[in-house]
Amino acid sequence: MTIQKDIAVIGGGPGGYVAALRAAQLGKSVVLFEKEWVGGTCMNVGCIPTKHLLHQTKILREIRTAKTLDGPAAQVTLNWPKVIVEKKKVVDRLVRGVEFLLTGNKIELVRGEAFLREGRMVAVRTSDGDEKVYEAEAVILAHGSRPAELPFLMFDGTNILSSTEMLDLAAPPKTLVVIGAGAIGLEMGTIYSRLGTDVTVLEILASALPGCDKEMGQRFELVLKKQGLKVLTQSRLESCEKAEGGLVLKGTSVKTNTPFELKAEKVLLATGRRPNSEKIAKSGPLVALDKRGFVQVNERLETNIPGVYAIGDLIGGKLLAHKASHEGIAAAENACGLRGHVDYRALPMAVFTDPEFASVGLTEEEARAEAGDIRVGTFSFQANGRALTMESPDGLVKIIADKNDKILGAHILGACGSDLIAEITLAMTKKLKITDIAESIHIHPTLSEAVMEAALKAGGRAIHCMN
Ligand SMILES: Cc1cc2nc3c(=O)[nH]c(=O)nc-3n(C[C@H](O)[C@H](O)[C@H](O)COP(=O)(O)OP(=O)(O)OC[C@H]3O[C@@H](n4cnc5c(N)ncnc54)[C@H](O)[C@@H]3O)c2cc1C
Repeated sequence: MTIQKDIAVIGGGPGGYVAALRAAQLGKSVVLFEKEWVGGTCMNVGCIPTKHLLHQTKILREIRTAKTLDGPAAQVTLNWPKVIVEKKKVVDRLVRGVEFLLTGNKIELVRGEAFLREGRMVAVRTSDGDEKVYEAEAVILAHGSRPAELPFLMFDGTNILSSTEMLDLAAPPKTLVVIGAGAIGLEMGTIYSRLGTDVTVLEILASALPGCDKEMGQRFELVLKKQGLKVLTQSRLESCEKAEGGLVLKGTSVKTNTPFELKAEKVLLATGRRPNSEKIAKSGPLVALDKRGFVQVNERLETNIPGVYAIGDLIGGKLLAHKASHEGIAAAENACGLRGHVDYRALPMAVFTDPEFASVGLTEEEARAEAGDIRVGTFSFQANGRALTMESPDGLVKIIADKNDKILGAHILGACGSDLIAEITLAMTKKLKITDIAESIHIHPTLSEAVMEAALKAGGRAIHCMN
């Protein structure tokens, strides 16, 4: 017997569960299929566990480096097994919260692997072995992604690890080579470096966080190096072989064409993620994919099959939880006959190192190429009272606007950058001008004053630095 629903959502990550909740709010009957974890990658093995480990290791670093604490700081250690247990508690609490919301919104949660069929049907084999078939007016695909391997480097669960396995190591390794200086690689490198692991990050491209604003990326790299992380850019890894006590990695510097060799107890492969698109239907994807395997959608997030939508990591672009969630809302609204959309020009991102790196919109290079005549306002946290009281003087706010004061982008390297960027994201979303930020009163002493000063400086009006 086929079960009828208005909306069927496959995948219970931040894309899928948010889509399900929005559709239920709009009065639809909803079924959500999840084969592994409600909360998806983000809650279980991504955003949340990494932020827990970053926070715990930050406490350790602060104690070790504080100038004013008395007592044997060097003897303070992290109880790593306890950290892992506490991490699980945080994850479980959040997952239970989402399950509560699903129940409260009368969403049917079906645990099992679901497969799309022709005619907006979904078949699922549930965890208790039953096969069920659902038919829906619209289907939202939110299968997410998984860590990608390199052709010559496969995960082995012991030495060559994915970000998921790095979250539950029994003890920090002595040496770690991270392949890929993106957000995941830099956050993991930071966690283990704070625990005393000798960390080297290898990146084939010219800077850490490839694609970011050039000046800000260079500053970011310098700060990370100052903290003891070795970041080797323009370094192409060519082989990785098992040796006594770990692995030997060989490659070539793209810049100087000279070979390099590194030894490591563990390797974290953080070169990207692959969409879970191969098994959307039992016979294959059914929907159209691009050449990297991401599901293709139009501006309404609809696939080539009418009434079948796709969102989140499965459709590519920036692989971020909040992007997945906003696409989930937009797809649910479109599936319910409304006009949902996502403003990708105001999509922020952050790396939760210390200082944090946050960014929204165009880089200075992209803005110059697109708008020609641009204005750039910067303000250093060295001149911000709150940053100095927090002993966080490293970093800079940079805001970029066109000649009509329209904000094109912003980049923040500094404490709480991931929170500070929200003001500029709001301004960009609501098409406010850079002068609106400059002229709004910011509390003193706060880090947000650096955002205001950068906006003032773009117009030659900064008060607390030379214009
Ligand atoms: C280490 C790490 C740190 C990260 N940190 C951040 C961060 O700080 N901020 C940020 O914005 N993003 C972060 N991300 C990225 C973020 O986790 C993803 O962008 C986000 O989870 C994508 O959401 P999604 O719903 O598209 O997919 P997912 O979260 O991957 O969820 C997909 C779900 O679908 C389920 N599924 C797949 N196929 C089926 C099927 N056939 N049937 C039923 N269920 C199925 C899966 O089990 C999974 O639960 C991080 C990622 C990692 C790996």
